[in-house]
Amino acid sequence: MIELRNIIKTYETKGQKVEALKEFSFNFKKGEITGIIGYSGAGKSTLLRCINLLEIPSSGEVLINGVELNSLTQKELREKRKKIGMIFQHFNLMKSRTVYKNIAYPLKGSGLSKVEIDKRINELLELVGLKDKKNSYPSQLSGGQKQRVGIARALANKPDIILCDEATSALDPETTVSILKLLKKINKELGVTIVLITHQMNVIKEICDSLIVMKDGFVKEEGDIIDIFSNPKEAITKKFLSSVFNNDKIYNYLENVAIKTNEKVIKLAYVGNAAEEAYISKISRNFNVDASILFGNIEIIKETAIGNLVVKFKGLEENILNSIHYLSQNNIYTEVLKDGRKTI
Ligand code: ADP
Ligand code: MG
Repeated sequence: MIELRNIIKTYETKGQKVEALKEFSFNFKKGEITGIIGYSGAGKSTLLRCINLLEIPSSGEVLINGVELNSLTQKELREKRKKIGMIFQHFNLMKSRTVYKNIAYPLKGSGLSKVEIDKRINELLELVGLKDKKNSYPSQLSGGQKQRVGIARALANKPDIILCDEATSALDPETTVSILKLLKKINKELGVTIVLITHQMNVIKEICDSLIVMKDGFVKEEGDIIDIFSNPKEAITKKFLSSVFNNDKIYNYLENVAIKTNEKVIKLAYVGNAAEEAYISKISRNFNVDASILFGNIEIIKETAIGNLVVKFKGLEENILNSIHYLSQNNIYTEVLKDGRKTI
């Protein structure tokens, strides 16, 4: 659908060169929501702007449905861009125009009649839940309502793709969830492919199908959202995930927890069905190990449970090791966080 091939983007200002993108290649799948996460300065916004050639890559190719954008005339590119909607962190609405007029703006020159435009705007207002605000001005709206206008405007020309640049970063958590739900609905019901950039893992986990972790202009890690959440490989990915699973706080807390020589603190992580099996009680019964749960966090991502537990096992060394072996055999990731035999 959207194919980026070896995109390099170098900015030059006052003799200083910044390599914002370094050989970035990726194939965005049609109908999916792909999240791109990275810290500030990673090159996310540059990347998004390269997708519709608002930013011209220094080298590399952008293909949309197999058509290389660089090969298009200005007129063809303008037509192509109409099929790519964009939404922004600060909404970018026109302050002096009503909600209705803001949504109407991209329909200028569309060849639609006044009546058709009116019909389209009303459909969009209905879709984003702002029918009663059509004559309001942006200053009279909440942040969430402003972003709904931004979304309606982005959808005006019935795009195949929507690019979201930190679309929820200026919103409170509750409003963020409602905007993400709206984007999911648009993806599901209208089949719009969405590329969403953010620095928050909580945004990614709500709606994305796949994820790119970006660092210094590169793809550091990418894959299916469940694979990455259950088995992150790169340190930066683990760091982003620790905000979701609270790992840092748990590890800090554990540092001050004293344990006995016959105890170990173990992290267990699992995906899906493992949650339905009574593994903990089986361990107590079969291996004579007492297991107590210190922390538990279960996230539901795309209807799949991803669990992270921190448990304390107490018993004979051999029995604890057998328990760990048994869990690993049942596809539960295990990691000894603290070992009483070593700390005392
Ligand atoms: P992100 O969106 O991940 O924060 P950006 O794409 O905005 O990252 O920026 C990537 C790098 O490119 C940064 O070092 C930034 O300072 C630089 N950069 C972005 N836009 C420009 C520009 N127009 N001119 C010069 N440097 C830029
Ligand atoms: Mg940015």
